[in-house]
Amino acid sequence: MPLRSREIKGFVRKLGADLVAILYVDGIDDENTKTELKNYLEGARSIIIFGRRLEHVMMKEKDEESAGYQITIRKTVKLIARKLVRFIFGSGFSSKILSNPEEMWKSKINIKNLAELAGLGQIGFNNLLLTPKFGPRVLIAAIVTDALLEPDAKNELTICLELKGTSCKKCADACPQLAISFTGRFYETKCLKQLNEDIELYQSYCCTLCITSCPIGHPDSSER
Ligand code: SF4
Ligand code: SF4
Repeated sequence: MPLRSREIKGFVRKLGADLVAILYVDGIDDENTKTELKNYLEGARSIIIFGRRLEHVMMKEKDEESAGYQITIRKTVKLIARKLVRFIFGSGFSSKILSNPEEMWKSKINIKNLAELAGLGQIGFNNLLLTPKFGPRVLIAAIVTDALLEPDAKNELTICLELKGTSCKKCADACPQLAISFTGRFYETKCLKQLNEDIELYQSYCCTLCITSCPIGHPDSSER
């Protein structure tokens, strides 16, 4: 029995995912990414990217409560990923988790780019995935499978205000490490320095200033 995109989407949404999209591996133009995916899972044909929204109110202060909240959401996303792998296996197909939220920067495959290609949103000036509804307030994970699933259309909207030509750069202003330069370059090592400091203080990385400063999806903003 073929597995359908509709079933997958219904399954992850029932488990608490707020967004989900599917990408066809052979539809990716970048040959390196395609090869990485096929090396990672023999016969890789589709990628399922799903995410859970992050409540702005739970992250606006940098404290233990916010760190705990983020840990909970990361666990939820991880659990959905594991259950999805089991569901796909039960339908007769193979799949593997591509990247969990905690390990995203360690992965050779950039799942934010895959999420953009799958139509979930756009990589913004803050180097994060901006979704039309939640802005950067989402945690995503991805699974690659050998099941052939109907893909979603790429998002054609420009979501980030700065990339749209409306002056913004609030994320760059907010970053304590100047990891987001005003010319649009992202310095990963500077950001990781902050995240490592957070782990020492809060037992979790919890700097979210490039998320909470963004007007897209902000509860008090008209950009929703
Ligand atoms: S997580 Fe913090 S340090 Fe890293 S880019 Fe965002 S605001 Fe800057
Ligand atoms: S804060 Fe402004 S410039 Fe930065 S990602 Fe959000 S919309 Fe784009």
